[in-house]
Amino acid sequence: MILHCCGCNKLIQTRLTDGVEIYPHRKDLSELPFWKCDKCNNFVGCHHKTDKPTTPLGCIPTKEIREARKHIHALIDPMWKNKLIKRDVLYAKLSEAIGCTYHTAEIKSIEDARKIYAAGLAISKELKK
Ligand SMILES: [Zn+2]
Repeated sequence: MILHCCGCNKLIQTRLTDGVEIYPHRKDLSELPFWKCDKCNNFVGCHHKTDKPTTPLGCIPTKEIREARKHIHALIDPMWKNKLIKRDVLYAKLSEAIGCTYHTAEIKSIEDARKIYAAGLAISKELKK
């Protein structure tokens, strides 16, 4: 499948593989599908719980971007999970802040991640008022 690879910073032909290759020490993940870029060895997981289990979650992130996404989720998920704001309203606000439709799995650069994090923080402060 052709996907955007953040490591290569371009569209790349990726290869479908599984958790045995990606996470050899995690037997619990061995059955899961992943799309891998053989040029830079980064990879992306799939919507494996759906009826199209090999649909990629988004572009292929670098390690740095994957970490940044975790930080973003840790910041914004509690807001909608604790019902401080509706999830779609939150995502609409984040989209507005970065000027395009926001989806965490589509973050392609650390710059984008920083922008999202800053926007998330601002929304969080707003909700605590
Ligand atoms: Zn790559």
